[in-house]
Amino acid sequence: MKFLKALNSVVNNKCPRCHEGDVFKDKNPYRLKNLYQMHAHCSHCNLHYEREPGFFFGAMFVSYALAAGWFMVWYIIQNLFLNLDTLEFAVGLVISIVIMSPLSLRWSRLIWMNFFFAFDEKLAKGNGPKHPVNSAV
Ligand SMILES: [Zn+2]
Repeated sequence: MKFLKALNSVVNNKCPRCHEGDVFKDKNPYRLKNLYQMHAHCSHCNLHYEREPGFFFGAMFVSYALAAGWFMVWYIIQNLFLNLDTLEFAVGLVISIVIMSPLSLRWSRLIWMNFFFAFDEKLAKGNGPKHPVNSAV
């Protein structure tokens, strides 16, 4: 269940602690001029998203894991359905990674945040006033 709650936060661009406030200002990751624009704090629980300077540097490792996971999925798809030669496989992989990179960037940051901020049921929908404390973990 904890995994599903974190997945809900990641897929829906929601604060990892309350699942109410948006993390990124624009919900569409493919509007590239707004790709990196994040809210500093959660509008619902006031969680400060960037715990420390350079906090999102660690999201780079998550992004790498997502790309590696996609490589495996692409490999399985290619073996089961497409039967491409090596060059076609590589070109398809690169094109698909480039197309998914805005989504990967956002998901990697949201996954990274979910490693450090636990979901708090008390702060979820309709529970209590805005929370001024910025507690981590
Ligand atoms: Zn929140």
